[in-house]
Amino acid sequence: MVLLADHYPFELQPLPYAYDALEPYIDTETMHLHHDKHLGTYVENLNKTLANYPRFHDWSLTQLLTNLGRIPRPIQTAVRNNGGGVYNHNLYFSGMTPDSTREPVGALADAIMQQFGSYDIFKQRLKQAGLDRFGSGWAWLVSDGAGKLQILSTPNQDVPLPLCPIVVMDVWEHAYYLKYHNLRANYIDNWFNTINWPVANERYLSCLGGPRFYS
Ligand code: MN
Repeated sequence: MVLLADHYPFELQPLPYAYDALEPYIDTETMHLHHDKHLGTYVENLNKTLANYPRFHDWSLTQLLTNLGRIPRPIQTAVRNNGGGVYNHNLYFSGMTPDSTREPVGALADAIMQQFGSYDIFKQRLKQAGLDRFGSGWAWLVSDGAGKLQILSTPNQDVPLPLCPIVVMDVWEHAYYLKYHNLRANYIDNWFNTINWPVANERYLSCLGGPRFYS
C-alpha cells in the first residue's frame, strides 16, 4: 500500500493491484468506476469541504471521523459522508487481493474459529449482515482492543470507529450492479474469494491492546 499524508489535502490512494486483477469476481469496468470515480469524488469533495477550514488541515481522517461533534455544523454532514467514503473505500480496496488464501490466517483465524465456531458460520453471518443492510452501506468484521470480534453493518458511508475495522464488504449497488445487477447475494458469495486475509490479520493484531486507527 502506498502511504500518503493522512491529512488535508487528501489524495486518491492508488489500487494495490491492476483494475482487472479481481476478475471474474469483480469486473474491470466496475473497478475503474468504483475506484477512480466514486472514491475519487469522495476525496475531491472532502477536500472542497475542508478548503475554507484551515484549523482542520492537520487533522487525520480518523481524527475527523471520531470527532464529528467538533466539526462546524455547516460542514459536519459533508465530512461524515465524504470522509467516511474515503476511509471505508481505502479499507475496502486494500482489503482485497487477486491472491486470496480463501481462508483466514494467523491469530485472526484462531479468533474466528473460537468466537464463531467455524469459518462457514462466520461467512454466513457476514453475508447476512450485507444482505440485511437495506439500501446503501457496508458489512464489517470489527474488533475491540481485547480481540473480541463482532459482525455489524453501517448505513451510507458511516464508519465503525471507534471499533477497529478488520474485514469490510461494500454493499452499495455501485460495487456490484454492472456485473451482478440486483443480485447482491451473488456478488457477496464471489467477493469472499477476494479477501486479503494477511492484511485482515495485520489489522486485527494492530488493534490488540487498544485501537490504533488506520486508514
Ligand atoms: Mn463503494
